Amino acid sequence: MKKYKTCIHAANIGNFAVHVYPDCPQKTKVKGKDVSSKSRCNTCPYWTPKASR
Ligand code: SF4
Repeated sequence: MKKYKTCIHAANIGNFAVHVYPDCPQKTKVKGKDVSSKSRCNTCPYWTPKASR
């Protein structure tokens, strides 16, 4: 499973962006929304699997 699909900080997966919760350490703001990207998630040191929450 790809990291962007399994991180506890990820809310929804869009076509181009990963919509994240405000506690994602690597989020950026795009049009007022907190997002990351699939490639950023896949190399992210803060990735935490959902099952561990
Ligand atoms: S950038 Fe990192 S912490 Fe944020 S949703 Fe992606 S994997 Fe999780």
